[in-house]
Amino acid sequence: MIQVTDLKKNYGKLQVLKGITTQVAEREVVCVIGPSGSGKSTFLRCLNQLEEMSGGRIVIDGHDLTDPKVDINKVREEVGMVFQRFNLFPHKTVLDNVTLAPIKVKKMAQEEARAKGLALLRKVGLEDKADVYPERLSGGQMQRVAIARALAMNPKVMLFDEPTSALDPELVGEVLAVMKNLASEGMTMIVVTHEMGFAREVSDRVIFMDQGVIMEEGPPEELLTDPKNDRLRSFLRKTS
Ligand code: ADP
Ligand code: MG
Repeated sequence: MIQVTDLKKNYGKLQVLKGITTQVAEREVVCVIGPSGSGKSTFLRCLNQLEEMSGGRIVIDGHDLTDPKVDINKVREEVGMVFQRFNLFPHKTVLDNVTLAPIKVKKMAQEEARAKGLALLRKVGLEDKADVYPERLSGGQMQRVAIARALAMNPKVMLFDEPTSALDPELVGEVLAVMKNLASEGMTMIVVTHEMGFAREVSDRVIFMDQGVIMEEGPPEELLTDPKNDRLRSFLRKTS
């Protein structure tokens, strides 16, 4: 589903991604871990073209993002993204937050968008909040709406950038549960997270990034219990 080859990203003289090569298969769940500043967010942002890459190649579902003929907006529709901060529209109801993009971008009919939006809200356990405004929601509820909103575009891949890092600890579980459910339905997912329990339980593979490179990757049971790399070992000691 995703092929990344020698991906590089510089900000001026600062080289943030120094040649990332990896693949993500359809239905695979990959967790990305690593210290702050290692380039995890930049990696995700390159994948959905929020950042222009400086070198290398990304192919998503057969679309080569470096090909000038590729319609980046179309590819972006296939890649849903959920951020640490939920970025809901404060002056729109929960349901309108979810239906906005399908109506505006996909030209979906109001009624169809509404029915689909309600089904997605049901999926994240928030159907009863359809008509309230985001300010009335808890952080965990907002993040679940953000997930429903991303799903409304029918993405083939979902990217999550520390989706639970801004939440009070007691709200983390409800968001992880929604993500786990999504994974079990076969969604292809890349999840940047500090939640090692989630990585261990839900992911097929863990990628450890450090200083702009992939230092180690492998199945969670191997990588998290028997790390080969010294920097990963010390990283895991600090997070546990
Ligand atoms: P992580 O998500 O792993 O914490 P980031 O991808 O956010 O790491 O950042 C990696 C590095 O790139 C950091 O040194 C950060 O300061 C730098 N960086 C990120 N975004 C920008 C930007 N827009 N301009 C300049 N430097 C940036
Ligand atoms: Mg980050």
